[in-house]
Amino acid sequence: MRPPTEFRLGDRIEMRKPHPCGGREWDIVRLGADIGFRCRTCGRRVLLERADAERRVKKFVERGPEA
Ligand SMILES: [Zn+2]
Repeated sequence: MRPPTEFRLGDRIEMRKPHPCGGREWDIVRLGADIGFRCRTCGRRVLLERADAERRVKKFVERGPEA
């Protein structure tokens, strides 16, 4: 089993599937039970449940600062 992903505010991540706008990179803008992402291409925000977020994130492009 994979350990839980440690998300940080300011992380820049790549999703497995591109946003409908064509963007692939997102900033993490909110942490909690739901993780908030902002598309770097169109600026739209989405909230994903943590388990869903962990499945959809492909990789970290750049890490935010440690809390
Ligand atoms: Zn977008």
